[in-house]
Amino acid sequence: MTGKGVESVSPLAIEPGDARYENLVQGYNHRFTGRPERVCLPVGTDEVVAAVGDAVAAGKRIAVRSGGHCFEDFTASPDIEVLLDLSQLNTIAHDPRRRAIEIGAGATLGEVYRTLFKRWGVTIPGGTCFDVGAGGHVMGGGYGHLSRRDGLVVDHLYAVEVVVVDESGRARAVVATAADDDPHRELWWAHTGGGGGNFGVVTRYWLRTPGVESDDPGALLPKAPARVFKRTVMWPWDGMSEDAFGTLLDNYCAWYENNDDAGSPAAGLWSNLVATHRASGMFGMTVVIDHDGPDAEAVFTEQYEAVVKGVGVEPVVHTREVVPWFSSWMPSYTFPNDPKGRYKDKSGNLRKGFTERQRRVLYRYLTDPGRSNPTTCVVIAGYGGKVNTVSPQATATVQRDSILKVVYSCGVWQSKDEDEANIAWLRRFYREVYAESGGVPVPGDVSSGAYIGYPDADLADPAFNSSGVDWPRIYYGDNHPRLQQVKRAYDPRDVFRHSLSIALPPQ
Ligand SMILES: Cc1cc2nc3c(=O)[nH]c(=O)nc-3n(C[C@H](O)[C@H](O)[C@H](O)COP(=O)(O)OP(=O)(O)OC[C@H]3O[C@@H](n4cnc5c(N)ncnc54)[C@H](O)[C@@H]3O)c2cc1C
Repeated sequence: MTGKGVESVSPLAIEPGDARYENLVQGYNHRFTGRPERVCLPVGTDEVVAAVGDAVAAGKRIAVRSGGHCFEDFTASPDIEVLLDLSQLNTIAHDPRRRAIEIGAGATLGEVYRTLFKRWGVTIPGGTCFDVGAGGHVMGGGYGHLSRRDGLVVDHLYAVEVVVVDESGRARAVVATAADDDPHRELWWAHTGGGGGNFGVVTRYWLRTPGVESDDPGALLPKAPARVFKRTVMWPWDGMSEDAFGTLLDNYCAWYENNDDAGSPAAGLWSNLVATHRASGMFGMTVVIDHDGPDAEAVFTEQYEAVVKGVGVEPVVHTREVVPWFSSWMPSYTFPNDPKGRYKDKSGNLRKGFTERQRRVLYRYLTDPGRSNPTTCVVIAGYGGKVNTVSPQATATVQRDSILKVVYSCGVWQSKDEDEANIAWLRRFYREVYAESGGVPVPGDVSSGAYIGYPDADLADPAFNSSGVDWPRIYYGDNHPRLQQVKRAYDPRDVFRHSLSIALPPQ
């Protein structure tokens, strides 16, 4: 049963003992393996309605997974009894009626990029891991190497279909659009950065750039670059003194502070500084810019010169090439990436470069002789530009004045026995970086909160967040009360929940 008066169209359900089960309960982060009673594999919205309605009627705790790339255990905590795996809802098509591109929540970013590019020559400014699912990625906000030019993925979100559960337990599908007169507009808004697993099950997104009205699918989203200038630089840790590292880091961040204007040619440039631990021997930066964008070569050259100025350590690798965008640049992973790995990551947005004290903390931890995992790293990814032209309230993504996104990672490891030491090290590191604000990136002069697409359950634990600022403020700022109102309207029974989910507002 799907609730009152709705006929059941139950999806395929896989239970323990089935050869497929173990494969389906394992997500990207091998620290978390769920043990649900069943994994449902719906192939359409009606099957999602049925699966949700049945689970609610039976009092079962449910969770939904699309690409399985969650940093935390939101789809694999031990209390989850029914897991909805949306991977079979992966349609990518032009919807002439909505004049938008329809994307099934289960489509991976790789499938999305390939189809958008090959069929229509367009793309979205999303992340660079091809296996991430559109499901969780889009509603987190979604950013990538084209975000400085084109904004966030949610800045192109026109509509979303969500299976929600009302007070009586009835499951139903709602399409919520950005249209001003849409009675479900707030539900759409909540999916523009409110994060996954909060309001219902997203089955489909419809994307089109605001202001574009066209019957031509090739006009609905940003044009994909044909080719890019691409630079890869690796610096040796040998000879990289604290001062040299500090200069490099300062220069890198300063370039983003000075080049945040969405209207400038520099908005076409994106880079990633992946400062791997000294145990790796070297660390590097990747830079890309659309070869055919305005002043591309000049910007490309200027950024490099600005970054290396006064560093005094020669790179051991430096390649500069022009490569086809799709086949040669994408995908380009931003994290240590091992499909059998165990991970713990933390994040923070920057409004400006790190303080001198923070730089010193970064250097000390990245050269910590007590650590030998070469995949330990701090990833500092370009941000801002077009992202910062949108008001913090226009979408649920409140961070509209950041210039960089930082991920702190203790790398990847394989054995459960190593969990504790790795995680403890990362917690110490993070706490010291944000020592002035209770161990977390409370929005302030330098920090601008954290990204819900990189959830970190520690932020909700007073042992690791002594700032006195509740975790929702760090992710959502002033948008949090509005997200709670959407929660009350669309998930009054708190069916969709996890350790960092939006709570119902106080009565
Ligand atoms: C290797 C790696 C690289 C990444 N790179 C980037 C990047 O470049 N840019 C960026 O912005 N982010 C990046 N991310 C973060 C990524 O966007 C988030 O982890 C995202 O939530 C993953 O979505 P998913 O569907 O794969 O994950 P899942 O684990 O399936 O889901 C994540 C969360 O969303 C919920 N959810 C998933 N599908 C649905 C649905 N259909 N309806 C309702 N809730 C749903 C889940 O319940 C869970 O709470 C990266 C993550 C990893 C692991």
